[in-house]
Amino acid sequence: MNYLTKKTVKDVDISGKSVLLRCDFNVPKDKLGNISDHKRIDESLKTISYLTNNGAKVILCSHMGKPNGKYDKKLSLAPVASYLSEVLKKDVKFTGEVLGENTERIVNSLQPGEVCLLENLRFDSGEEENSEEFSKKLASLAQIYVDDAFGTCHRAHSSTVGVTKYLPSVCGFLIEKEINAINRIINNPQRPLVAILGGAKVSDKINVIDFLLDIVDIIIVGGGMSYTFINALGYAVGESICEIDKLSFAKDMMAKAQEKDVKFLLPLDAEIADKYSSSANHKTINADSIPEGWMGLDIGPKTVRLFSEVISDAGTVIWNGPMGVFEWKNYEFGTLSIAKALSESKAVSIVGGGDSAAAINKFGFGDKVTHVSTGGGAFLEFLKGKELPGIEAIEDK
Ligand code: AMP
Repeated sequence: MNYLTKKTVKDVDISGKSVLLRCDFNVPKDKLGNISDHKRIDESLKTISYLTNNGAKVILCSHMGKPNGKYDKKLSLAPVASYLSEVLKKDVKFTGEVLGENTERIVNSLQPGEVCLLENLRFDSGEEENSEEFSKKLASLAQIYVDDAFGTCHRAHSSTVGVTKYLPSVCGFLIEKEINAINRIINNPQRPLVAILGGAKVSDKINVIDFLLDIVDIIIVGGGMSYTFINALGYAVGESICEIDKLSFAKDMMAKAQEKDVKFLLPLDAEIADKYSSSANHKTINADSIPEGWMGLDIGPKTVRLFSEVISDAGTVIWNGPMGVFEWKNYEFGTLSIAKALSESKAVSIVGGGDSAAAINKFGFGDKVTHVSTGGGAFLEFLKGKELPGIEAIEDK
């Protein structure tokens, strides 16, 4: 998997050309329909500004939510157009439809440096079906395609893969940044290469563990998923999350680690609770003797010390999944401490794949690590060793 060969927006002449730019504007909205987190839109500004400053006619497109091929006012991109007009300080013309006469009229009247935004692509069922007809029509609006939506790179849809059949296709700065981060893990990483895995379940991360064991020097497993491994070693885990049907997988993975000379680290102690509740009674205990009626909801201080030392000595760290129920104050210590250790380490630190990205931002360390991936599912697919079709489809240099 070497994506460094992919063409970027700097490898094509965009001056005076119509450019279809696929962004990830899948932002959350509040009850009133206002955008409640602009981060994803802000991340796309660098590429949009580069295109407009270099005289391109920019046609923006994105999906939002899961409208299942039908119009849904709550998932309209209209508020995104208003926000973009504000921050770009220019009128971003909203077409109010995906494809149709209005879109054609607006696109055809665009001047160099001007920007328009299509309505939510998933209002048309052709998008997710990667339909030939829809892809062709979408591509016919432009002369060049730029993909900057890392969050949807793991999906082969019309706007991520289908259009590349008809247009010269390159990536934007956001995808370029993600590719560089992936490269620092895959190709000649600074060693030791450490993976920290957490989150609720082993079953969600089976392929991730298997793949990472082929490339890392040390693997750390915390969070809810660690109890399946602790139980597989023969220790009591009380009422902690434990997937009995994954015990033999857990044993196989620990055997694979030994075979490959990969250090496999599990929690030494845990913060346990007498029920799954933010107000439960709780105490710290060794992780190999959790009594009946109690469950591990976070890693303990001895574990934090051990994991932090490993992070401090690492060359590269990949982090996916929280160490505990970090949403509750009593069980945020482990996740917060790992985030802090990462921020203080000299290692190349790459965080991604769902909740860990949210956690590191929540604790204010997001800008103190090397890279926080913008693609939850896409980053996780990469951690499973899967190709990302949206990036595959971009032309090589
Ligand atoms: P995932 O989506 O698999 O990364 O899981 C993230 C979720 O795992 C978070 O919402 C955490 O609250 C939860 N989690 C982490 N550790 C535990 C644990 N020890 N017991 C129960 N849930 C946990």
